[in-house]
Amino acid sequence: MNTDKIDRVEAFLEKHKGNIEHCVMCPRACGVNREIEHGECREGWTPRISSANLHHGEEPPVSGTRGSGTIFFTGCNLHCMFCQNFPISQLHQATRTLDTDTLADTMLSLQNKGAHNINLVTPSHYVYQTVMAIGAALKKGLAIPIVYNTSGYDSLPVIRDLGGIVDVYLPDMKYAFDDIAGEYSGASNYPAVNRKALLEMYAQTGAELSLDGDGIAQKGLIVRHLVLPGNIVNSIAVLKWIAENLSPKIHLALMSQYFPADRAAGHPVIGRRLVHEEYDEVVEYADSLGFENGWFQELDAHGGC
Ligand code: SF4
Repeated sequence: MNTDKIDRVEAFLEKHKGNIEHCVMCPRACGVNREIEHGECREGWTPRISSANLHHGEEPPVSGTRGSGTIFFTGCNLHCMFCQNFPISQLHQATRTLDTDTLADTMLSLQNKGAHNINLVTPSHYVYQTVMAIGAALKKGLAIPIVYNTSGYDSLPVIRDLGGIVDVYLPDMKYAFDDIAGEYSGASNYPAVNRKALLEMYAQTGAELSLDGDGIAQKGLIVRHLVLPGNIVNSIAVLKWIAENLSPKIHLALMSQYFPADRAAGHPVIGRRLVHEEYDEVVEYADSLGFENGWFQELDAHGGC
């Protein structure tokens, strides 16, 4: 049993227990009682999920050969108008509501099915409840790495206290500019919040992705960036910031799979797919910065992240 991780879980739960009645768990800091009110994430206290499966479409050190034990939470603290998963994040299409013990048992069930890790997708608005479940699962034998698969709109105190609980961070870095963060995702402070969160993740993990003998990530940081059409300046600024403030040695997942989902359909800038000239420019710039670890998705590829 990982007693150090259990100790860190207990410290986290003690420190952040006020979120039950006054939720400031994410940067929205709504201050609502989650048991009786909804904040910006429009989700109550008890976690709801859309799926819990072995997933093979993540980055290779996450999916491995047997799959990543993906738990996909309903809702989101961002409101991205182009969300590629909008039925889950914004239409709140849940299949199950899971109390702590059931969520812990779901993690153990994924481990028993051979999952390489527990991959918490969009966990930021359920982080306290999820840490409760991790604690319960650890006591029952959960031994595989915990992956925190997030939009990157995370509270710094929360990320700081997830140190030693989360093994692999898988955050987005969506925006470098407040205006498009506000317009596209309803969070004009995303760049500032996201940069602080990623600096803390990097401080915990460093640039190296620690792999086991089968090439499965045990500890580290993988930063994802989805290239948006008409916003190459944004992508270039994001990559420049990562290279200058984290490291060009980090694992970078550059994604080209954008399509104008949901409210982005018909938008004058992002209401279309990416074109080759745009994506090639971003890839060339990433190469010029020296990024050599990670994955650059082929344009026209689908699925994955
Ligand atoms: S988790 Fe939800 S209720 Fe809590 S601060 Fe964030 S958006 Fe608001």
